[in-house]
Amino acid sequence: MGTAGKDITCKAAVAWEPHKPLSIETITVAPPKAHEVRIRILASGICGSDSSVLKEIIPSKFPVILGHEAVGVVESIGAGVTCVKPGDKVIPLFVPQCGSCRACKSSNSNFCEKNDMGAKTGLMADMTSRFTCRGKPIYNLMGTSTFTQYTVVADIAVAKIDPKAPLESCLIGCGFATGYGAAINTAKVTPGSTCAVFGLGGVGFSAIVGCKAAGASRIFGVGTHKDKFPKAIELGATECLDPKDYDKPIYEVICEKTNGGVDYAIECAGRIETMMNALQSTYCGSGVTVVLGVASQNERVPLDPLLLLTGRSLKGSIFGGFKGEEVTKLVDDYMKKKISVNYLVSTKLTLDEINKAFELLSSGQGVRSIIVY
Ligand code: NAP
Ligand code: ZN
Ligand code: ZN
Repeated sequence: MGTAGKDITCKAAVAWEPHKPLSIETITVAPPKAHEVRIRILASGICGSDSSVLKEIIPSKFPVILGHEAVGVVESIGAGVTCVKPGDKVIPLFVPQCGSCRACKSSNSNFCEKNDMGAKTGLMADMTSRFTCRGKPIYNLMGTSTFTQYTVVADIAVAKIDPKAPLESCLIGCGFATGYGAAINTAKVTPGSTCAVFGLGGVGFSAIVGCKAAGASRIFGVGTHKDKFPKAIELGATECLDPKDYDKPIYEVICEKTNGGVDYAIECAGRIETMMNALQSTYCGSGVTVVLGVASQNERVPLDPLLLLTGRSLKGSIFGGFKGEEVTKLVDDYMKKKISVNYLVSTKLTLDEINKAFELLSSGQGVRSIIVY
């Protein structure tokens, strides 16, 4: 008996409230409504942003099912869905692509206005939830929610990918694309240039890979966990620096080593201090800084405008500037071994072990844990 059109009962990790471990629960996932897709999740990475929601750095409604970096298989589709069919392998998109808003019509932006990052409704387009647990509706995260065996997403929030793509391809759904694309698409790193990447997590490592792919000649990796330095060097960093080793700000150290500063800095830690160090580590006449990290909603960058006046620029980037449709090609490139994401995976765990994955992320051990369902 097929499951299409029926409620599905399955296991999910529910965050009932912030600052508490996730709870493994039996939930009900309603069938997809018109222009929605129900997906059986195969694997999901745990991103710094999931952890930041739990720590209330990124605001969200609770109770919520976190997770936004996954690969899965379409179980069923709602009326009017034409982009995928049951059985297709897909990556859910936390930045959707509606095709008709100002951003989707522009080649300069990937930030589709149908995203749920600003309003943070935690609901589907009809303002209802597809998840129920213990009789209560559960909110979704950025229209994705992947720490569950089944989820429902809008049909504009799904990219069809190679059916043979392995579990590790889930990381193309956020961490890899975010860091790699920030170097290639947003900073537009040039051959022979100098770069500094701040924060050596999944996003930071991917930014190093992007800088190398763009032909940078010197890449500084800046982080506080020295055990990650050999991996950063293996991936393309030419030198790693721990700010704790110096009695002056790390931007001064970088400026001294690079005749006045790097050409490009990419911030992947989500901290005000590293954002300011990134900006000040770039060359005053032309340096480009890209902020990827998400700082606490109450924090502000204390920006002296003179830092920009002489030619520096400060940019942001969501999902590495990639539009949803480009995810299919990223996975194709991965399958052809033009890019790799496997270096990001440090641990594979079951859904029951998800709180261990959050502990590993918070302690800075390893890079990415992926949950295999
Ligand atoms: P992650 O694995 O936790 O990495 C963050 C890194 O930042 C850590 O490994 C650590 O680097 C450094 N860091 C964090 N807190 C620190 C502290 N208190 N002191 C010193 N260093 C600290 O997270 P991620 O998944 O790579 O994500 C990185 C950031 O990007 C997060 O803010 C996340 O929310 C954001 N993000 C943004 C987008 C986007 O589209 N813009 C997408 C995904 C994630 P070291 O180990 O080197 O010290
Ligand atoms: Zn993410
Ligand atoms: Zn759009």
